[in-house]
Amino acid sequence: MYDCIIVGAGPAGGTAAYHLSKLGRSVLILEKEALPRYKPCGGGVSPFIAQWFDFDFSPAISVKADTIRCTWKMGDAIEVSLETSEPVWLVRRNVFDHFIVQQAQKQGAELRDNTEVIGIEFKSDHWQVNTKNGFFQGRYIIAADGASGRMAKWLGFKDRLRRLAGALEAEAPAKVDRTNVIDLEFGIVRNGYAWNFPKADGYSIGVGTFMGGKAQNLKKIIDEYGKSFNLNLSTCQQYAYALCLWNGEQTLHTTNAVLAGEAACVVDPMTAEGIRPSIFSGLKASVAIDEALGGNINALENYSNTINTEWGADMAWAAKVAGLFYRFPSIGYKVGVKRPSGPQIMGKILTGQLRYSDVAGRAIQRLTSFNS
Ligand SMILES: Cc1cc2nc3c(=O)[nH]c(=O)nc-3n(C[C@H](O)[C@H](O)[C@H](O)COP(=O)(O)OP(=O)(O)OC[C@H]3O[C@@H](n4cnc5c(N)ncnc54)[C@H](O)[C@@H]3O)c2cc1C
Repeated sequence: MYDCIIVGAGPAGGTAAYHLSKLGRSVLILEKEALPRYKPCGGGVSPFIAQWFDFDFSPAISVKADTIRCTWKMGDAIEVSLETSEPVWLVRRNVFDHFIVQQAQKQGAELRDNTEVIGIEFKSDHWQVNTKNGFFQGRYIIAADGASGRMAKWLGFKDRLRRLAGALEAEAPAKVDRTNVIDLEFGIVRNGYAWNFPKADGYSIGVGTFMGGKAQNLKKIIDEYGKSFNLNLSTCQQYAYALCLWNGEQTLHTTNAVLAGEAACVVDPMTAEGIRPSIFSGLKASVAIDEALGGNINALENYSNTINTEWGADMAWAAKVAGLFYRFPSIGYKVGVKRPSGPQIMGKILTGQLRYSDVAGRAIQRLTSFNS
């Protein structure tokens, strides 16, 4: 009998496992893939996360970016050196996610990869977690099985405020000249953006669309975007994947279980940043489960409240800005991006030096006054 079974070994699950093990709890991580596993992702990580760990992330960081270059329809560029306290980290997700899990293992967490969870049953005071390789028992569960996971459904969460978005990513091996520059393109995809994030040995190029609307040929768009960097993406493997954007306050706990990471729909609806909030929720989930194991009957409810107030409240502002920006993107680009302060603010939000609540009022005013 484990104190906690964590389903999913992404940033949310790995973080929860690290902190719960460190608190002396017995933890089992179940992961359906063999680690290290690939995850479609740009791999842009906020350095803000460093404060939540007591180990050094250097071995898991591919390169660091201190410059953002934005374009509109692959022209009209603006390039800005970020005045942030730390550059943005660019990681390979197979390396980064596995690194966190390895730190958790050093603290005593057990990992069973290649072990897909296929169902769960509550047995009066604990969970039985059924996998393709037999069943396991845990007093508590953290469901950290990502955007396509089924744990939330099995745990009985219904009518969820889930806003699904879609993205397509290609990994292009290449010699990278400027490993410190992040590229963002706003004019070739509706309701989203395209990105080119450097790594030490190539690029992660992708397109994401976050607000629904008419179907778009993301494959055609990504191929065109790749050509602007002299990359032939049609010969690279391309991966389509869902994103679960924050879509309002939610209950994230149930009997002896919580949802964390993208299973809890924590992704920023403006930028699609998901790693930092997944790690944040994994951290808070570990604290809640530790307190619940210690007898605090309000611990899991407090977890839902914490995520709603400490992350969700700011995401409500992000959603308002996104609603206006992506509805009128050419204006958004002109008044929000094509000024040196625009990418500077983006950088500061990503690195945690600013919150949307600090800047949304002014951004909304600018966007609406230009539209009216
Ligand atoms: C194309 C794309 C680009 C992105 N770029 C960025 C970016 O640059 N920066 C950023 O911050 N965010 C980005 N994101 C979002 C980010 O990738 C996610 O928000 C983040 O991975 C969520 O972490 P997680 O731990 O919740 O879930 P995941 O990382 O998805 O991990 C969930 C794990 O659960 C496992 N699992 C699922 N079902 C089961 C099961 N039944 N049994 C056992 N294991 C199971 C999966 O195999 C997986 O390993 C991007 C997303 C996409 C799709």
